[in-house]
Amino acid sequence: MRRISLRSSSTRISISNGKTLHGAQQLRPRWKRCVSLVDEQLGEALGQEFVRRAFSPDMKKSTLEMTQYIEAAMRQDIQQLSWMSPETKKHALEKLDTIVNKIGYPNKWRDYSSVQVKPDDFLGNEIRATVFESKRQLAKIGKPVDRDEWGMTPPTVNAYYNPQMNDINFPAGVLEPPLYDPKMDDAPNYGNTGSTIGHELTHGFDDQGRQFDAKGNLKDWWTDKDAQEFNKRAECVVNQYGQYVTVDDLKINSKLTEGEDVADLGGTILAYAAWKAATKNEQLHDIQGFTPDQRFFIGLAQWACENRRPEDLRVRTLTDPHSPGKYRINGVVVNMPEFQEAFSCKAGQPMVKENRCRVW
Ligand SMILES: [Zn+2]
Repeated sequence: MRRISLRSSSTRISISNGKTLHGAQQLRPRWKRCVSLVDEQLGEALGQEFVRRAFSPDMKKSTLEMTQYIEAAMRQDIQQLSWMSPETKKHALEKLDTIVNKIGYPNKWRDYSSVQVKPDDFLGNEIRATVFESKRQLAKIGKPVDRDEWGMTPPTVNAYYNPQMNDINFPAGVLEPPLYDPKMDDAPNYGNTGSTIGHELTHGFDDQGRQFDAKGNLKDWWTDKDAQEFNKRAECVVNQYGQYVTVDDLKINSKLTEGEDVADLGGTILAYAAWKAATKNEQLHDIQGFTPDQRFFIGLAQWACENRRPEDLRVRTLTDPHSPGKYRINGVVVNMPEFQEAFSCKAGQPMVKENRCRVW
């Protein structure tokens, strides 16, 4: 469900585990492990301060507006889909209309006042915070679902769609430079953050999301025919990604990554359409020698900048439902004529694909 896959930041991973499975050469610096621990145990207290310093009301406003443009693009996309039946479209639009956008931070902050934190008692702090969290979880039993609750803390650099809540969640941490940069123009921001928003949005309507209705109840609202048509198109993506080599002789297990690969492609198509709609009355011009369209795709590519060791790639190939960053970009843009046009790619060149895939 999550788009930006970070290596587990758990402070509990031992050094030998990280070394053998992920190729880690050394333990992370102490301060990083401490920040991770505080984020894990008192995340919304840390988040409150993070938001105060780094996520201005203007940033909340502009990223919410971007989300609304992406949703409008999705609405148009659903209406125009040739393969979805009118009956299913009706349910899809209903679901789209009820999605809750959670941007930046929760409306109500978690109250940690019952957790005693002592500067000289590391073990005690850890135990007290763990007990607090257990109690908080157990207290939910028998109570109505708290729809304001967040599954990630505000400083987290990640995002998710939750089918049981029918909400998309973008913590402030993922809406910060170098991903979303309020000082930059719309093109790279839509390419980067816009495609993340689009990615999460499509999850509400894919092979998993469609099993839940607008209220988040387990209820498939697709006809068999629609599901068949969806699968037929997704199959194109599965065949494409199954040919990519991740490390040594290992190829992507594209049955495992199918949902994420389809979301990456759909999310980018939606972000591109939304960007065009958001800027339709503006005179866009070249910046630093790149056209607006080129800047959109450069922004897209930059969200996936990463460098992984072979050990890590190997584990991920077997377990991670996301493809490696390189293919989450290259695999998407070869399916977009807009990309080929932006960079004047010619037939027969590596970034041109003969039979393009398209689901959304
Ligand atoms: Zn995802």
